[in-house]
Amino acid sequence: MDYEMIMLRFGEFTIKGRNRMRFEKRLKDQVLRVLKPYPAALITQSFGRIYIELNGEPYHPIAQRLQDIFGIVSLSPVKRTVPDLEAIREAALDVMKGYDDTPRTFKASVRRVWKEFPHGSQEMNHLVGGHVLRRYPQLRVDVRHPEIELRVEIQQEAAYVFSEVVPTAGGFPYGTNGKAMLLLSGGIDSPVAGWHAMRKGLEVEAVHFYSFPFTSEQARDKVIELARRLSYYSGGTLRLHLVPFTDIQTSFVSSKQDPLMITLMRRAMLRITEKLAEQAGASAIVTGESLGQVASQTLASMNVIGRVVELPLLRPLVMMDKQEIINTAEKIGTFATSILPFEDCCTLFVPKSPSTNPNLRVVEKVESFIPQLDELLAKAIEETEVMELNAETDLSGETAGRDEWF
Ligand code: ATP
Ligand code: MG
Repeated sequence: MDYEMIMLRFGEFTIKGRNRMRFEKRLKDQVLRVLKPYPAALITQSFGRIYIELNGEPYHPIAQRLQDIFGIVSLSPVKRTVPDLEAIREAALDVMKGYDDTPRTFKASVRRVWKEFPHGSQEMNHLVGGHVLRRYPQLRVDVRHPEIELRVEIQQEAAYVFSEVVPTAGGFPYGTNGKAMLLLSGGIDSPVAGWHAMRKGLEVEAVHFYSFPFTSEQARDKVIELARRLSYYSGGTLRLHLVPFTDIQTSFVSSKQDPLMITLMRRAMLRITEKLAEQAGASAIVTGESLGQVASQTLASMNVIGRVVELPLLRPLVMMDKQEIINTAEKIGTFATSILPFEDCCTLFVPKSPSTNPNLRVVEKVESFIPQLDELLAKAIEETEVMELNAETDLSGETAGRDEWF
């Protein structure tokens, strides 16, 4: 099937009048980036929709990349023809050629946007539907729940014919809802949290804490690779801050408050991240926490950990089940990297029985007894290394991104 065009449908942001122009521009830029390797393909805009004229460029690889652009809710491969009954009927047969001989239910839905067109919508449903049925006897009409809905949109300059609606990533165009820092560990959850944040239009900078020599070079590379995989969804680059955490962790170990270890570490991470957020102009912190998953993720723990910063903490996964998170990790192409075995800085320092119900006053007291904690935090910020990751320039020679939409 040779499609001439791809029709893109926008998401929820279409209702936000004032921002619409900005959102549309962002979205268009993202689409243009995807089309760069396909110079004959052109973008056109009409009636609040974006169309891509393929001009001979291949549908499938382009559609595949478009599915990952946030702000597009669905797309359809479309045949375009002149607004004339016979031409529309031919195009309809052509679209239906894409299906095999399996018996299926079907209906034609014609929308007449151009009111001068000589046949009404209802009449057209019969004229087009009947024509298709005569050619494909395995089809049976079902107007309520058809397996195939053949749609025709008649405008003055052209008629568009299509039957497939491919659901895509949805959300808001990347970066149109502000900026946040993402606490990125090497685990399964935080890259998924990052993807959810990006999908909602947040520009993201990732922050990772490592404890060399307790954590290996491979553990670091793993996080860099995860950030690179996420960068694919930004449509450009993604910044990663690598924060040396060894001295801070060691100072916590010497405080001999084993059950509070994780609480202390997470609070220190947040304090540093809040400073980095200030420098980056970010106004929220995103984490991969999920309620009840581990000791540090009880409501009591989250409360005590979160009290240390003033920025809003966004936890996209907080109410999700692990399996749901894993499914998304697989879909977005981060799972295989996340399950590589290298130790995370926290795993190494995990106490035998971490507190599930830490007390804020006690935690603050313990912190106040740690010698030069503020200086250690300031030093870690000073020694933070910054990298710009880009999905096209990689460690492994492979372009990031998922393999297939589910
Ligand atoms: P993940 O799979 O994201 O590691 P997890 O279920 O293992 O999550 P924790 O290890 O308790 O949970 O971490 C909770 C959250 O704290 C993580 O999702 C991440 O946002 C943040 N975090 C943990 N370790 C680090 C780290 N070394 N650097 C940056 N952020 C971290
Ligand atoms: Mg973890």
